Amino acid sequence: MKDLAITTKLVHAGERRKPPVGVPVSTPIYPSVTYTYASMAEMDKVFSGESPDYIYARYGNPTVAALQEALATIENGSFACAYASGMAALHAALFACELSANSVVLASRDLYGASFDLVNKIFGAFGVKMQTADFSDLDALREKALEIKPRVLLAETISNPLLKVCDIAACAEIAREVGARLIVDNTFATPYLCQPLDLGADFSVHSATKYLGGHADATGGIVIAKDEFDRPALVGVMKLVGGVLSVWEAHQILRGIKTLGLRIERQCQNAKILAEHLSKHPQIKKVFYPGFSNEADSVEKVLRPPHAGALVAIVLKDNTREAAFRFVDALKLCIRATSLGDIFTLVSHSATSSHRELSPKRRSELGISDGLVRISVGIEDINDIVADIEQALEKK
Ligand code: PLP
Repeated sequence: MKDLAITTKLVHAGERRKPPVGVPVSTPIYPSVTYTYASMAEMDKVFSGESPDYIYARYGNPTVAALQEALATIENGSFACAYASGMAALHAALFACELSANSVVLASRDLYGASFDLVNKIFGAFGVKMQTADFSDLDALREKALEIKPRVLLAETISNPLLKVCDIAACAEIAREVGARLIVDNTFATPYLCQPLDLGADFSVHSATKYLGGHADATGGIVIAKDEFDRPALVGVMKLVGGVLSVWEAHQILRGIKTLGLRIERQCQNAKILAEHLSKHPQIKKVFYPGFSNEADSVEKVLRPPHAGALVAIVLKDNTREAAFRFVDALKLCIRATSLGDIFTLVSHSATSSHRELSPKRRSELGISDGLVRISVGIEDINDIVADIEQALEKK
């Protein structure tokens, strides 16, 4: 190095040092796109898969691998595969189900709008058909599944924004009966509250952008698979479609999940207090909160007792868009923003955000009225959250 020109030294000096002998206590960020080896023979072994190691960022990265291992361990999967977003993760899980022309995806009718569009528009372009059903009516679901023989059942642990909890074990039984695979979007529940693979799902999918990251500063998605059998398809999508999770986001999400249990405990406690408080409020017509559900048993079967999630939805007595806008605009602490699962309390108006693309008639069929506001409860002091919401409800 000593005899080289300054321009060469600028490029190479200090690079490719031996890794420390001591194992780093927290996972380092490895932004390197490529990896070099001592010889071509060694490199050839890695390329052939004889010595599993890293080659190129789109094929795998040590920081991303740490996150994948963490989530596979936490949700009792065979393995996990990370992607650039929750949508990329769901796309990969659907791809792994080997859909072809005329295969049917039977999805919950409350499905997240973009997931609905993903099946209809992207897979639909290749002839895949989509049907929906009310996944809370299990008899009707079984009957429909027996009739249409879907390739995939696509459920969400907790629906948006009415917060219905899906009986995953019952859906898994129906899926087995008709030879379908069960994909569960576990984003709203998190691995702390629900373990879909233990309840019989084939894939658990997360938008890691929400609770897993938890701080509104990382976008990512993850699929946790029950069977090793699905590895080639899930890894294949990652390599060939290329929607890989960035190493920086992987690090943020890996850091985020360390406090997931603490955050969720606090957020669930806050949500319970808020839901109980708002259910007695004269300006509020209805509160949606799974803890109030008549189906407390099924909530307990799916979510870690005594929790019922950290989301609350309210319908204002003046059930209009104007009243909802006035209320949300009057908030001083809670944040007007889409998304959920962050440490901050986030408030969104479903009719003009997540369900904006639907016709008023369809929204009304789904029970999403203009005066409905969803609250993703944060970790702030509950008295401050309640006081902020109360003062905003008083604004006329
Ligand atoms: N699944 C659910 C339930 C969601 O709410 C979202 C986003 O809001 C997604 C998936 C998509 O996640 P991402 O925005 O990370 O692609």
